[in-house]
Amino acid sequence: MHFKTAKNRAVKRDVPGAVCSLCAQDIYLGERVWCCNGMTVCRDCFERFARGVLKPFEIVLGEEMEL
Ligand SMILES: [Zn+2]
Repeated sequence: MHFKTAKNRAVKRDVPGAVCSLCAQDIYLGERVWCCNGMTVCRDCFERFARGVLKPFEIVLGEEMEL
């Protein structure tokens, strides 16, 4: 008997392509992600990630800055 050994090549839409570094959620092929400093960040975590990365540049207008 001869069996087919090749795996089915289904549409890869539901195959996780990466995992979010912040929430550990699967990120699927075709989704937009941000890769920075060795991290992969999903769309849901982008705002939190961006705020963290840009924190050193955050100021409150009107407050005096000490240098
Ligand atoms: Zn995430």
